[in-house]
Amino acid sequence: MTPTTFSFEFFPPKTPEGMDKLRATRDQLARLKPKFFSVTFGAGGSTRDFSLETVLDIQRAGYEAAPHLSCIGSTHVNIRAILQEYQNHGIRHIVALRGDLPSGMASTGEFRYANELVEFIRSETGDWFNIEVAAYPEYHPQARSARDDLLNFKRKVDAGANSAITQYFFNADAYFNFVDEAAALGVNIPIVPGIMPIGNFSQLARFSDACGAEIPRWMRKQLEGYSDDIDSIRAFGLDVVTDLCERLLKGGAPGLHFYTMNQAAATTEIWKRLGL
Ligand code: FAD
Repeated sequence: MTPTTFSFEFFPPKTPEGMDKLRATRDQLARLKPKFFSVTFGAGGSTRDFSLETVLDIQRAGYEAAPHLSCIGSTHVNIRAILQEYQNHGIRHIVALRGDLPSGMASTGEFRYANELVEFIRSETGDWFNIEVAAYPEYHPQARSARDDLLNFKRKVDAGANSAITQYFFNADAYFNFVDEAAALGVNIPIVPGIMPIGNFSQLARFSDACGAEIPRWMRKQLEGYSDDIDSIRAFGLDVVTDLCERLLKGGAPGLHFYTMNQAAATTEIWKRLGL
């Protein structure tokens, strides 16, 4: 059986103060002994330098760092240079994504989909990188159909992905259904649920609308009812997300990947409640 892996995601800070704050968060979360910390990457290379700096900072502190790499709007030459840079620094773990074209950027560049990026990484660097890809238990918002999205997920696996991290969701059945459907297509790589702690309802609603993650009606109603009462929102969020994690782990999920939003408190509390 594959061992369970736990990981934490950060976005790259853009100021020295932000970096100091992230270091403190990282050191706090490091006590939970995650397998790795991942760092997001703005499509079109918009956060390239900040992402690299954050990744190297994590690595220098002695932890495993997995940079995200999004390919939309990019060229083979650009991506090759980034891969070389990571290889030169001894980075062996990468999260390969398509990304979304930033507004104002007209050209999609030389990669259309993430499976092309996975293929490119494998052809350029062989087995150097452990490659993670994204999975969508509630399906990607641009997918033509659920079946199409699943087949497109399989393309990334066939191109050489080692494991997957999902978009966040609040409905465990969607995850288990997705894993079963993927297995029926012969996909057996670990599919690790992405977990979004709840700290702020309007931000969560905005993210969820953009990425197609469903906030179930009962949750939305309850969260809306708390209005500006942040303490109640957080308390409710901790209960709901801890229950979700428990169900996922009991049901055989191969780990958990936390979208920390560069904050340690909620993730740490969920961790404690899970008895990890
Ligand atoms: P793809 O797998 O390429 O899929 C995109 C859409 O195209 C889907 O609808 C799919 O069904 C369809 N499709 C895929 N392949 C084909 C094909 N060959 N032919 C036709 N249709 C196809 N974004 C960032 O910009 N930076 C990040 O750091 C980042 N990190 C993320 C981490 C995780 C764990 C997740 C789940 C998402 C992350 N995202 C990030 C968001 C992600 O980039 C977006 O969701 C994006 O819209 C899709 O990326 P993808 O890699 O899943 O794309």
